[in-house]
Amino acid sequence: ERIVSNKVKPEDQEIEGGLRPRFLNDYIGQDKVKEKLKIFIEAAQHRKEALDHVLLYGPPGLGKTTLSNIIANEMNVNIRITSGPAIERPGDLAAILTNLSENDVLFIDEIHRINRTVEEILYPAMEDFALDIIIGKGPSARSIRLDLSKFTLIGATTRAGLLTSPLRDRFGVIAKLELYDIKELKEIVKRSAYILNVYIDDDGAAEIASRSRGTPRIANRLLKRVRDFAQVRGDGRITLDIAQDALALLEIDFLGLDSTDKKMIEVMINNFGGGPVGLDTLAASTGEERNTIEDVYEPYLLQIGFINRTPRGRVVMKKAYEHFNIPFKE
Ligand code: ADP
Repeated sequence: ERIVSNKVKPEDQEIEGGLRPRFLNDYIGQDKVKEKLKIFIEAAQHRKEALDHVLLYGPPGLGKTTLSNIIANEMNVNIRITSGPAIERPGDLAAILTNLSENDVLFIDEIHRINRTVEEILYPAMEDFALDIIIGKGPSARSIRLDLSKFTLIGATTRAGLLTSPLRDRFGVIAKLELYDIKELKEIVKRSAYILNVYIDDDGAAEIASRSRGTPRIANRLLKRVRDFAQVRGDGRITLDIAQDALALLEIDFLGLDSTDKKMIEVMINNFGGGPVGLDTLAASTGEERNTIEDVYEPYLLQIGFINRTPRGRVVMKKAYEHFNIPFKE
């Protein structure tokens, strides 16, 4: 199990709740998205209406759930949280929708995994705030329309392209969350350390930030592990030395890469001459799932310039050869 995976682990849940920023002003980074949302929220509040439906997309752990909770807090409404795979039948969604109050937020995580019949209920719900229910069977069947409270649907997904276009078209606001830069992650680490009541100096925070792969979830997880190390091997305070020793023990290098990244790059270089390699080929030869490569490994490797995406596949860049000490041939 990779410690630098951006997917939620049970160990995250115990701390994530407490570390989640509750209002836009405490939400670090994503300035463009925040600015856009601030305007839409203010306008909706002014009109005393529900906010337009919002689609948030980007790799796991970047703050989509957090942002959805913030939107509900800023709008001063309730939020109901569910996920695509959890809504099995149309009746499940109908039950959720009929229980929403005026202007509430319905958050559907992994909305791309919603099934087709459920998705069709969503269309009139999003567009007309109505539920079409079929009563009876055969020739005597008839459809009745139930009015719903106006609500805001916030959908989260790793890639916008995973949604069907009729669903995607029904979102008024579509926002992409980007990987965070080191300065932002450092701020997140310091804020979390403050909440967890741990002393951390500037260099210690920067060290954790630079190994967090642009992802707040990973930054918080690493902080927690370094805190444990500091308690046992030091005096509880997190300094540069403590952070470096702890992260070395966790086998995460100074860029936040671990053996899985190394293996993937090596397969691309040794088996495919550095690429281009198609995603499916790469998945087959590393034993990883295609989606995991695309949503979990690749975004960060692209950000740090280790690989490049070309129409014919993925290519390893010179920087990666240098990092892993592999001779680069032009
Ligand atoms: P996602 O829903 O995209 O997978 P989450 O919203 O669950 O991600 O975020 C993971 C954790 O990272 C949260 O517990 C939160 O504490 C932290 N986090 C995410 N974004 C931010 C941010 N912009 N500022 C501070 N902390 C953040």
